[in-house]
Amino acid sequence: MRSKLAAGNWKMNGTQEALSELAAMADAAKGAAEVLICPPATLLASAAGRDANIAIGGQDCHANASGAHTGDISAPMLADAGATHVILGHSERRQDHEESDALVREKTAAAWQAGLTVVLCLGESLEQRENGETLDVIAAQLNKSTPDGATGETLVIAYEPIWAIGTGKIPTTEQIGEVHDFLRAELNTRFGAEIGNAIRLLYGGSVKPGNAAEIFAVPNVDGALVGGASLKAADFTPIIEALNASG
Ligand code: PEP
Repeated sequence: MRSKLAAGNWKMNGTQEALSELAAMADAAKGAAEVLICPPATLLASAAGRDANIAIGGQDCHANASGAHTGDISAPMLADAGATHVILGHSERRQDHEESDALVREKTAAAWQAGLTVVLCLGESLEQRENGETLDVIAAQLNKSTPDGATGETLVIAYEPIWAIGTGKIPTTEQIGEVHDFLRAELNTRFGAEIGNAIRLLYGGSVKPGNAAEIFAVPNVDGALVGGASLKAADFTPIIEALNASG
């Protein structure tokens, strides 16, 4: 049985005062679902260890462990700051920083080397969906971005249709189910059923308190990667509670 995961991506939002939101999420985080918050790098060390039930993750890492890479942060540095997870391959990184699948794969290997669990993001653009290319795009991203040797402990996949991120638009539950079933089958083929069935599949893109329960009822949805609605406990807590109740 896969444990559920409610992951929050704070993106480039939050200063020290935002950490009070973690305390306000603490009760919900005591439930069955795991809770992960990925704050900006400046808050990692202060966020880590604040609550035993809230894991802390980075939002990116460099593929190298150290070196002349001004402004970058390595996977061992994230681990040193108290992170246990890192989001990689987010569509905003792929777009803003032209990150390729090959680079995401290198970063994933570096994160594993540092003992981090990777939340690997993939998803189609609106144009790709309208052209009927969604499953092909997702299969290519999955296979090219993921190194061999994944396990249920080291890899989480987040399906995030680009057109649903921050837009309030959301795929139908049938569309989410189709992609998640497909991802499960791809993972089983690539890594074998034992590992493929252990890797958690998150849905991400405009998850809100009002739609969370419906999304969590879709088979092969093991939780969510949440952007905007993870910033405030008042929004994220009902999402965590919906996941706790989803069984
Ligand atoms: C995200 O950026 O990963 C995301 C899912 O954002 P939002 O929830 O705001 O759509």
